[in-house]
Amino acid sequence: MSGSAPHVIVIGAGVAGLACARGLTIHGITPLVLEASDAVGGRVRTDLMNGYRLDHGFQVLLTGYPEVTRQLDLPSLRLQPFHPGASVRCQGTFHRLSDPLRQPLDAPAILLGPIGSLGDKLRMLRLTRDAQHKTLCQHVGGPSTSTQNVLASYGLSETMCRRFLHPFLHGVFLDEALATPAWIFEHVWASFAQGNVALPQEGMGAIPRQLANGLHSVSVRMNAPVTEIDGTSVTLVSGERLAADVVVLATDWSTAAILQGTPPPSSGRTAITVYYSAPQPPLSGPWLVLNGEEEGPVNHLCVLSEVAPSYAPAGRSLIAVSLRPRTPEPDQQELAVRRYLAEWFGGAVDAWHYLRTDRVTSSLPPLNVLPPTAPTSVCELRSGLFACGDYLSTGTLDAALWSGRITADAIAERLGVPQPA
Ligand SMILES: Cc1cc2nc3c(=O)[nH]c(=O)nc-3n(C[C@H](O)[C@H](O)[C@H](O)COP(=O)(O)OP(=O)(O)OC[C@H]3O[C@@H](n4cnc5c(N)ncnc54)[C@H](O)[C@@H]3O)c2cc1C
Repeated sequence: MSGSAPHVIVIGAGVAGLACARGLTIHGITPLVLEASDAVGGRVRTDLMNGYRLDHGFQVLLTGYPEVTRQLDLPSLRLQPFHPGASVRCQGTFHRLSDPLRQPLDAPAILLGPIGSLGDKLRMLRLTRDAQHKTLCQHVGGPSTSTQNVLASYGLSETMCRRFLHPFLHGVFLDEALATPAWIFEHVWASFAQGNVALPQEGMGAIPRQLANGLHSVSVRMNAPVTEIDGTSVTLVSGERLAADVVVLATDWSTAAILQGTPPPSSGRTAITVYYSAPQPPLSGPWLVLNGEEEGPVNHLCVLSEVAPSYAPAGRSLIAVSLRPRTPEPDQQELAVRRYLAEWFGGAVDAWHYLRTDRVTSSLPPLNVLPPTAPTSVCELRSGLFACGDYLSTGTLDAALWSGRITADAIAERLGVPQPA
């Protein structure tokens, strides 16, 4: 170790890198954070554009994620919750599907509604209970079986899957084939049941900003891409070389592979979000709207300003439309979406103003880089070089927070820094 104070460099100021840096400061270690871009947050960023808050692709916060409650100050994010459940578009109209355990007054309508049979709804309750008790994987043949097999094992009908579960889960996992392993489904489904789905009042970018604001003494250098790691020294694109006792690789999976000198894995899962502003909300209330029909370019949509009024200027609405993977070519997408949604909302769509399309090709890690079962330990690539990031666990915000935190704890232990009381 050089000198008396251990020197730790964290490469990347996404959620994992920030959680790691924060964890290190809790142990009394002040790292240097090097970030390639011009701001913190990585994949979680929000642009303020003419009074609209545009997250980089439609994304939400699950307050039921264990690390979210552990690491974030939720009251100061001033969370705006979605309605627990979804509105499903099918057979020419919208059907509301609430969580009957949280909205008992809606229970009769839910149990008798057209989104799946009564048996389906009882099976859904069993699946949710098993996910919460962490017994789901043992019922479905193990943690690495696919989510598609989970739904089949619980006997959920084709109608329930097509109208609700497929669009909902595709929206969550960006995985049309539902090949996501059961252990990840179990974790995420239990988190949905455990808390709310919400948006921070100032946009999703408020989450990494909160983490960064807690790093008082830490230096976070922006526009500082690392091009090489040699032992525990790093070289920046400028040619500057910095030495450390420990280096943490907190980039996305692809950059992490490149910086280790290995070929990058296949690209990640893509999210395409089309943003519109409108003079009137096309529907009222904080609903996630799923496309329960098989045709059309839209997977789901949300009137974000009905969830969080701060997402749009006064008197306007902000709509985020999430597309299916097989959509028309980019230059025809917006027209295809508008034409399709005119079938749902009529001529009101003509008054919508197109804002932008976010096509994020590596929103979530490719499934083949994720661990086959829940990880329990940190990733130490070699002596003095650790990795953290969402791809080392469930490929979610929760995973990024978790892996950042446990990496900081492991480094403190390795450096012989006493654990905080
Ligand atoms: C459209 C979209 C929707 C999503 N929806 C959800 C959701 O609803 N719920 C959920 O849980 N998760 C969601 N996610 C996933 C979630 O955002 C990620 O899992 C999480 O943000 C990953 O954080 P990370 O720190 O591991 O990686 P990243 O955010 O990728 O951070 C890596 C950081 O490293 C930096 N970096 C890269 N290369 C270098 C280099 N050479 N030198 C220095 N720095 C470098 C990058 O600029 C970046 O800041 C969504 C993601 C997207 C894009």
